Amino acid sequence: SVYGDYIKSVIRTVRDWPNPGVNFRDITPLLQNSAAFRKLIDSFVHRYQELNIDAIAAIDARGFIIGAPLAYEMGCSFVPVRKKGKLPFKTISETYKLEYGEATVELNSDAFKKGDRIVVVDDLIATGGTMLAAAKLIERTGGEVVETAAIIDLPELGGSRHIREAGHNVFAVCS
Ligand code: IMP
Repeated sequence: SVYGDYIKSVIRTVRDWPNPGVNFRDITPLLQNSAAFRKLIDSFVHRYQELNIDAIAAIDARGFIIGAPLAYEMGCSFVPVRKKGKLPFKTISETYKLEYGEATVELNSDAFKKGDRIVVVDDLIATGGTMLAAAKLIERTGGEVVETAAIIDLPELGGSRHIREAGHNVFAVCS
C-alpha cells in the first residue's frame, strides 16, 4: 500500500518476546502516533468504502483497535471475533492448531445474515491460523468474506499464502 513503508517505520520489533528467538511486532508506537494511526485507518477506509461492506469482523484483541474506527468511518456494523468464553450469547466456534497446542475463536450466531459482505481485520498474519478460523466462522453463518486484512503480514511464515489457497483475498499494509 502507499503508506506501507511509513507504517512499517513506526512498528517496533521486540527481540526474544514472549519467548527466546521470537521477534514480536509491537504496534503500540504506531497507535501513539496520531498521524500514523490516521493514515493506517484511512488506508483501510479507502480500500473498502466503495465495496458495499456490511460489517467489519475484528479479531480479539488488537484487531478491535483498527476494526472499530474502520466500521465507524465506513458506517457499517462492527462484529467481534472473540477468544473462547468471552461472548455471553449463543455462539459458534472454530478450533485451530498453534505451534504448541490449540486455540478457539467464537462468533455470535446472530452476527451475520446470509449474503452479508464482510471484511475481517487483525493486526498481524503469522501462520494464518487465526484469520482462517475467523473466515470459516463467517462462512458458516452464510456471510461472504470479501477480504482478510491486516496491518502486517509475515510472508516467510506462509500464512497469507495459506489464506489465499483457501480462496480468500488478503491485504496487508506492510510486510
Ligand atoms: P497466526 O494465527 O499464526 O497468523 O497469528 C496471528 C495472531 O497472533 C494475531 O491475532 C496476532 O495478534 C497474534 N500475533 C502473532 N505474532 C504477533 C506479533 O509479532 N505481534 C503482534 N501480534 C502477533
